[in-house]
Amino acid sequence: MTHFAVIGRGLIGSAAARHLAIAGHQVTLIGPPEPADKVNHAGVFGSHYDEGRITRALDPDLYWSNVSAASIARYKDIEAQTGVSFFTECGAMIAGPQNSEYIQSVKRIQKDQGIVCDRFFGSVLVEAFPYFKFPDDFQALYEPKAAGYISPRNLVQAQTVAATNAGAKLVDAIALGLSETKPGIIITTDKDEINADQVLVAAGGFTNMILPQPLPLIAYARTIAYFELNEDEAMRLSDMPSLVLSFADGRAPYILPPILYPNGKTYIKIGGDQVDEMLETVDDIKAWFKSGGSAEVGKYLRSMLLDVIPNLRYETMHTEACMTTFTADERPIISRQSDRITVAVAGCGRGAKCSDELGRRAAEQATAFDTV
Ligand SMILES: Cc1cc2nc3c(=O)[nH]c(=O)nc-3n(C[C@H](O)[C@H](O)[C@H](O)COP(=O)(O)OP(=O)(O)OC[C@H]3O[C@@H](n4cnc5c(N)ncnc54)[C@H](O)[C@@H]3O)c2cc1C
Repeated sequence: MTHFAVIGRGLIGSAAARHLAIAGHQVTLIGPPEPADKVNHAGVFGSHYDEGRITRALDPDLYWSNVSAASIARYKDIEAQTGVSFFTECGAMIAGPQNSEYIQSVKRIQKDQGIVCDRFFGSVLVEAFPYFKFPDDFQALYEPKAAGYISPRNLVQAQTVAATNAGAKLVDAIALGLSETKPGIIITTDKDEINADQVLVAAGGFTNMILPQPLPLIAYARTIAYFELNEDEAMRLSDMPSLVLSFADGRAPYILPPILYPNGKTYIKIGGDQVDEMLETVDDIKAWFKSGGSAEVGKYLRSMLLDVIPNLRYETMHTEACMTTFTADERPIISRQSDRITVAVAGCGRGAKCSDELGRRAAEQATAFDTV
């Protein structure tokens, strides 16, 4: 039986481990859990330490629409098989200037892929979503079903439960390097060495710290702003969909509806940095995650949120830091790098909702070793 080591217990790695384990392979899933104390944490970080990631099949790009739709179609089965719920089907909306290339592309994909969606414009849009304020030329495409948001934390948990139920072994360790030998691959970690036949590296923005040959990855710093709502305000916005906006001036925020967090508080959150700040080294990435995000970006996000929901009443605001990993062509790298090494990396800011399909494709690549 082939032994697969999967490095990275994040969204893509845990999905790949599930697909490999249910296909009957021996699987070791290597990676640390979310740190309890980010500021004093010396290890690596992940981009899934949150309760809200927008999920939708609507997209201006066919690749991302397809991988998302394929994943969404499996959410309910994964929830049922693991008893871990992660999907809230509150609907998702994309809005922007009616004649923009962006909205035209979304409409094309919606039509071609037969995505069930309502289109709103003008006074009908205002009546349907009275708490939003959009420019007059905005058209909204609203996907009411099989869309909304997922808890990325719970999705990782569900994938991990499913993988271990199918026989995968979990190892809480940080991988430091790989050496390929004739009989197999040796994974050096901060704990014991691990031997396997094949390795799949899915360590997000930390992937290049492990690979013998670095990949052309670009990691960006991201700030997210959270606004705590009281019960009345959360109730007023309780039917709000997840929202992705594209303004004519280039601003492109995304907004999650009110979500109850593990600390018992309900937050509405917004992201969409005005500039892409690159994180060049592993030390830069670690320092960024510990920083709690940028106060300047926080101000910018607050002002955009109040443009979109002008009557928002919130109690407190705070920011947090996260990271997105990109490639130049805005596609993930899911491919074999050698006889024994496969990678699955670069969610390009969109990799949560579709992580199950990215993990499935990664498992497919990793098991294609007898063809290389
Ligand atoms: C602010 C923000 C908002 C986003 N919003 C959305 C959204 O609304 N919708 C959407 O679809 N996507 C969204 N994304 C993108 C999505 O979260 C990412 O694409 C996704 O997390 C990528 O999954 P991954 O498995 O590659 O990385 P991660 O989820 O980061 O997992 C990588 C894992 O590797 C582990 N690791 C790192 N180094 C090592 C090592 N050396 N050894 C072992 N393990 C290691 C980490 O601990 C981590 O668990 C957002 C991202 C950010 C930052």
